Amino acid sequence: MVRERRAITLSSVRGPAFLRAGAMVAVVAAGFGTPADDPPAATWTPSVTDWANTAPSDTAPLLLYRRELASDESFAAPWVQLAGATILPQEHGMRGLRLEGEAGATIRFRPADGFPVALARRAVLEMRAIGSETTPIRVELELVDEATGGRLVAPFELHGGPERIEIALQYLRYDRGRVPTTQRVTSWGLRFVDRAAIELVSFELWREDGIAGTELTVDDLRSAFPDPERVRVYERGAFVLVTDAPNLDPDRVLGSLATMHARTRELLPHMPEPRGPVPLLVFATEREYRAFWENFSGRFGTRVVPRQEDEGFTWQGVATAWFSDRYGPVRPTYVHEAHHALLERAYGLAAQRSWLFEGLANLEQLEISKQELASVYRRGLRRADKTSALPELLDGRSIRTDRYWQATMFAEFLVADPRRRAALDSALFEMAQRGSTDVRPVVRRHFGRDLDAFGVEFWSWAWTTYGS
Ligand SMILES: [Zn+2]
Repeated sequence: MVRERRAITLSSVRGPAFLRAGAMVAVVAAGFGTPADDPPAATWTPSVTDWANTAPSDTAPLLLYRRELASDESFAAPWVQLAGATILPQEHGMRGLRLEGEAGATIRFRPADGFPVALARRAVLEMRAIGSETTPIRVELELVDEATGGRLVAPFELHGGPERIEIALQYLRYDRGRVPTTQRVTSWGLRFVDRAAIELVSFELWREDGIAGTELTVDDLRSAFPDPERVRVYERGAFVLVTDAPNLDPDRVLGSLATMHARTRELLPHMPEPRGPVPLLVFATEREYRAFWENFSGRFGTRVVPRQEDEGFTWQGVATAWFSDRYGPVRPTYVHEAHHALLERAYGLAAQRSWLFEGLANLEQLEISKQELASVYRRGLRRADKTSALPELLDGRSIRTDRYWQATMFAEFLVADPRRRAALDSALFEMAQRGSTDVRPVVRRHFGRDLDAFGVEFWSWAWTTYGS
């Protein structure tokens, strides 16, 4: 009797069909409850073949974590933290936690005995909106690295009635700043985008089909192309090139990326290895490139569309551009965007459009395009006024396109001198920890002077080098 039921239990939790069937209540009953008829002191000994067969296989879906909520728990710190949300009373013994909150309210759960999200591929929430709202209620699942406050976020909507929300964890979005990694996530929770009252029944993490971890795979990227059948994939060194452009020369492109990587390594000898292969996507046309971003960002529950005037775009460590051979077989933009993705994945720092990312990427782009910027710099220097002041350029925030010349010139200033290069190498580590390329808090420690003195040094270098 007992043996038979146990065998069924494990296969139910592991069976691939089970996930699709969506009968989560049955999982609880089969896998996690303590059946009342379990003999308290059973002494049967299964044969080795018997128990060996019950070990989880590597390929089947597997439940890694489950938190079930009930009304009669005490939701106390430090294991549960509420901000702007209130727990609503509920009848004793009922399943689920009832919660009410304003827009921006959060509840966070800190599992006491480990949180295996780094191994998971999918999260499942059982919950519902309370009341009869006419519009859907927007909520976010948050996985939080509490040491840095970094969040991995998946937005979803509640439409009323019990719902089972499935979230593909490779499409968790992070914000600008320090990139949270799932290895460092210590809590999970919800954030109300709208004012709402909800009932949360359970939260689960699942592994799936042998894919361990939340990283994007090449298939995730390929499937967001307008025609995945036409997509080809080439991998070399740190980079993976994914393209549907029939006339792209992958050999030349990968060769240029390898050169850029070697140069970057020479400039920043302590640069860490990037997290996973660095993807560069090259689309056959600009239209396909734009269609990809609509589709791909939609999977993250958001809409991110590259600006009309830009030639390439990098987001969540994925570099993209469309095919053009106007500048030869390697469009300089490919190298520029791939440099952004490399730095983001190596340092765990999302700082696109900051002076440092744009300045260094532009230097690499110029290596390919062989464009001469001396006249641009000269004109810039002669027209420089208070809007060209360094503190605003170097504060780590997005810079406008009309300051790219100055960011590039400043990067060239840093690279031109061995001591400044070494200082940049060490400063980048601290910038990554701080989640910003803001120079102000690190300039004295790494460059040995305050920003004013650094500015004087820069401008005199610039005038000497490009002034006449
Ligand atoms: Zn850029």
